[in-house]
Amino acid sequence: MKTKTSSMKTNKILLSLTLALTFAQAAWALPNIKVLATGGTIAGAQTAQSDAGYKSGTFSVNDLIKAVPQLTNVAVLSGEQIANIGSQTMNHEVWLKLAARCNELLAQKDVDGIVITHGTDTMEETAYFLSLVVKSDKPVVLVGSMRPATAISADGPINLCNGVALAANPEAKGRGPLVVLNDTIHYAREAQKMHTTRMDTFQSPNRGIAGMMNTGKAFFYSMNTTRHNTKSEFSVAGLKTNDLPYVAIVYSHANLGGEMVDFLVSQGVKGIVLDGVGDGNTTDAALAALEKAAKQGVAVVRCSRTGSGVVDRNVEVNDDKLGFIAGMELSAQKARILLMLGLAKTNDPKQLQQYFVEY
Ligand code: GLU
Repeated sequence: MKTKTSSMKTNKILLSLTLALTFAQAAWALPNIKVLATGGTIAGAQTAQSDAGYKSGTFSVNDLIKAVPQLTNVAVLSGEQIANIGSQTMNHEVWLKLAARCNELLAQKDVDGIVITHGTDTMEETAYFLSLVVKSDKPVVLVGSMRPATAISADGPINLCNGVALAANPEAKGRGPLVVLNDTIHYAREAQKMHTTRMDTFQSPNRGIAGMMNTGKAFFYSMNTTRHNTKSEFSVAGLKTNDLPYVAIVYSHANLGGEMVDFLVSQGVKGIVLDGVGDGNTTDAALAALEKAAKQGVAVVRCSRTGSGVVDRNVEVNDDKLGFIAGMELSAQKARILLMLGLAKTNDPKQLQQYFVEY
């Protein structure tokens, strides 16, 4: 009897050991993914259950991870709270902190990728900024949601699942930061929020989407052929918020005068991005003010408010004569970022133009 009990005990111990070993092996084989949270609707709660209103950045990174237990099948996760804000208040300070943390983490052998949770309002800007200054080919994936965590059919959990699966996928390496929402994968340079509330708000209107997620698996449709990450010459190592040059955006419309440009120049602006009509155009008054600014050494970049297409040199505006830079495929909000990083290196309009061709 005694022998039977002790052999049952031994069996139980052996079984527990085997199970523990199996779990340990499974965890060991899974990629290590860091989740860096910045806030946004994905971490937002409705202000009242019946209310359309909600507050971004209510839940912490650990709440987000815990809400999706399936994530533990895909990766070993650990979270860090970088900020907890609505991304309409995203700023250079958070960008520099986020970029520095990405660089530190991705340099570690035991980190395979990063997921950043972020509000959708400025997600494309953060993604593009990181594509220029993160010095690693490991996957960085930005996820958000269009519906707060407490809403009916919240999209945050599925977007987070897709984000983690993507960050854990070796095929995502070398593509630069990716944005994933609504089962659709976008390259940082292409992604653009184009609808106020719909789930398919992100589009890649110029070069098209990077791929799709299908039941947790990634299908890539195209390569990212523009310079990014390890092929980028930009760096924010050691930079403080005030080291980033002051670059402003001027939105063009019928009857625009030159006074806004003049005011910016009087405030010491180093670069102006014109969010122009059509092919990067604007009124004669604004053009004259921009020409004056360029003559005083302000870098002037022409982009288009249409939301897609190329603004090339010397089409309706004589960039050679006026000393302007063509924004090529970049939206004004992304052109501001490239111009800021470009101006941290050079004031030469020719070199700045080259950046707009390559990045
Ligand atoms: N304003 C919010 C944000 O960007 C709403 C957008 C969102 O997260 O979907 O944080």
